[in-house]
Amino acid sequence: MPAEQPFLPFALPELGDEELAEIASALKSGWVTTGPKTKRFEAAFAAFLGDAQLHCLAVNSATAGLHLALEALGIGPGDEVITTTHTFTATAEVVRYLGADVVLVDVDPVTLCIDPRLVEAAITPRTKAIMPVHYAGLAADMPALLALAQAYNLKVVEDAAHALPTTSAGQLIGTLGSDVTVFSFYANKTMTTGEGGMVVTRDSALAGRMKVMRLHGINRDAFDRFQSKTPAWYYEVVAPGFKYNLTDIAAAIGLVQLTKLPRFLERRQYLAARYHEALASLPLILPAGPPAGDVHAWHLYVIRLASSAKVTRDELVRALSDRGIGTSVHYVPLHRQPYWRDRYELTSAMFPHSDAAYQSMVSIPLFTAMTDADQDRVIAALREVLG
Ligand SMILES: *Cc1c(COP(=O)(O)O)cnc(C)c1O
Repeated sequence: MPAEQPFLPFALPELGDEELAEIASALKSGWVTTGPKTKRFEAAFAAFLGDAQLHCLAVNSATAGLHLALEALGIGPGDEVITTTHTFTATAEVVRYLGADVVLVDVDPVTLCIDPRLVEAAITPRTKAIMPVHYAGLAADMPALLALAQAYNLKVVEDAAHALPTTSAGQLIGTLGSDVTVFSFYANKTMTTGEGGMVVTRDSALAGRMKVMRLHGINRDAFDRFQSKTPAWYYEVVAPGFKYNLTDIAAAIGLVQLTKLPRFLERRQYLAARYHEALASLPLILPAGPPAGDVHAWHLYVIRLASSAKVTRDELVRALSDRGIGTSVHYVPLHRQPYWRDRYELTSAMFPHSDAAYQSMVSIPLFTAMTDADQDRVIAALREVLG
């Protein structure tokens, strides 16, 4: 084993002097909550997606954005929302915030994205919406899911926390025409604002509702009031809203990160291709690439042990950790989490693909700031343990 090397985490944001300068400008301006930088960030995000009809609303997390989306769609008690068991709990918890029920289905064994055939089989008269997750940065089967939504009159809210930027049949996620798409700027995502998210929709009525509910159900935000000619103190509360607005300090980081996103994507694609080539001969199932011509955001690089591997997942995690290499597991599926398992009486046998993937999977380091030498360490360690 090589002598002491610094610990290599599985993910790390890439932040620099440009972000610091933009944060400093927010602080010096005296306007630190939602204001001009947030407005610029929303406009820049819409420009990035390249669709002039999109409403982009910055929020303080993707979880908040998903909650706003379902609330605006009128999801409530008695309703069912179908999503994948192979996701982070945030996707499903927002359904419960509104008193509706979550119906979990299994994934496609290759892509680990929600299987549209299982979605169709799970539809009942109570079903109101489908929430696909673009797992690891690979688009779920959106043509099939959007067709189902149309056939059964269901809403679609895309959890695009991993999918910036991702395409489906050549179109960027966020522009496909689902009801709402929500991106995350959490620290380990493909770009970050520390904490934050972006809600995207083409529907003006939904955008209007989410904008009001983002800030206490008030029909004017603080910056509108600050700038306005009419009395600044006057506002109207039209609903019991939430406190989900993004700060200008966070938006400052986002403005700069967004300009770096094309370079970040290129780096992630390069690292993923390099892993693919270097790991091809090991007893591993490597992550599915995108369909020809499509973009995979490569938020995560998830390897799975083949049945011929001599070690278990937990042994592999330990062996990498012993070599100073950080890993993670995405995810402990929801059907194994006590709350979801107990509430809906779920068993592993109901989700064979997600469960088998979970038991054999490891997310290995993939982040823009890692060097080729860092990646060589991961490759060498995997060859040593699995070769
Ligand atoms: C990160 C993540 C979220 C939540 O994002 P936040 O911005 O932290 O709220 C939701 N869904 C998935 C799949 C995620 O990975």
